[in-house]
Amino acid sequence: MFPEKTLAWGRSKSCIRELAAYGTARKAQIGEDRVFDFSIGNPSVPAPACVNESIRELLNTDSCALHGYTPATGLPSLRKAIAEDLNKKSGVEISPDYVYVCCGAASGLVISLRAMLMPDEEVIAFAPFFPEYRVFTEGAGGKLVCVKPDEALQPDLEEFERAITEKTKAVIVNTPNNPSGVVLTAETLQKLGDIMARAEQKYGHSIFLLSDEPYRELVYDGQTVPCVFDYYHNTVMCYSFSKSLSLPGERIGYLALSSQMAEREELFASICGVARACGYVNAPSLMQRVIEKCIGNTSDISVYKGNRELLYNGLKDLGFECVYPDGAFYLFVKSPEKDAKAFAERAKKYELLLVPSDDFGVEGYVRVAYCVSADMIRRSMPAFKALAEEYGL
Ligand code: PLP
Repeated sequence: MFPEKTLAWGRSKSCIRELAAYGTARKAQIGEDRVFDFSIGNPSVPAPACVNESIRELLNTDSCALHGYTPATGLPSLRKAIAEDLNKKSGVEISPDYVYVCCGAASGLVISLRAMLMPDEEVIAFAPFFPEYRVFTEGAGGKLVCVKPDEALQPDLEEFERAITEKTKAVIVNTPNNPSGVVLTAETLQKLGDIMARAEQKYGHSIFLLSDEPYRELVYDGQTVPCVFDYYHNTVMCYSFSKSLSLPGERIGYLALSSQMAEREELFASICGVARACGYVNAPSLMQRVIEKCIGNTSDISVYKGNRELLYNGLKDLGFECVYPDGAFYLFVKSPEKDAKAFAERAKKYELLLVPSDDFGVEGYVRVAYCVSADMIRRSMPAFKALAEEYGL
């Protein structure tokens, strides 16, 4: 006998990874250049020079220390550097003692959820959302409650207020958003924080804001993402270097707790306990040192901005309805037929790999990941044109 849930998660796979695997097989079959793979959010821009330079430099240092265990929470010098970096972004001072270095945003979210959820407590996520939130929440013994967006795909805050119950323990926000590219404004974050503070008063317990931020630096047109710590006291930031430094396979990120959190000591202790119980020993030690040297740098984000313009303008000209993305590297395109899965299947006929939105918690869209080469976007346009013609756009 095996646990039913883990069996089901293992057998069902993520819709994104399934499509990416199809893409790999299809490329082997008909040739790399003939498949327009917009499936997965793997950065297409190399890591900045400082990453390889620091690796080379570090390889000349004491190998036993370099590859040895670090404290479970991360190297003290790195935690300090992270706190200093955060303190440039927010008016709320973050202490290195409440920074936990972990394996990307995914592990930050999982550890935090497991550390805070009691059986059957609820976690609210705003659709459209990263599909793994459901697995992360249910894996932690909780229940995911989905709040549908408004017309502009912004969080519907009235609906949010109604969704909060006595069982609500956490709320996940993701800005810039995967899959829509929407960035939450300071005003929205403030309203959201006010609603949560009122709910805490009403129910008499903490409700945590989990801010999932792997795309924080991926914003264009001179914008910056408002820092969540400034809008709500019980905030946990889950950050990752996967996208900003193009290091998704290296598994490095952190979580940080607000100094305004009343139960900060208990939550951090519980986070350390969960990590221990999961046999998670420490984040990769070489990468911790690389991050310490590279913090504050990013890959060349302007490449994604160029891709955004190419794809958005190209698809709009063909008659597709798209949400203009302020950040991340995804374009959310309205399906010309109600069933986005049927639309994505039809797109495959033209070797276009688009992710249907159903698993993101909304129907009727596809996600187009534009972390690809500009050349591929240009070459894909005749395929999009043929697809648009099928729908009479
Ligand atoms: N959250 C969102 C919204 C993502 O898009 C991703 C990855 O694509 C993750 C979390 C996980 O990222 P990481 O590589 O940092 O674990």
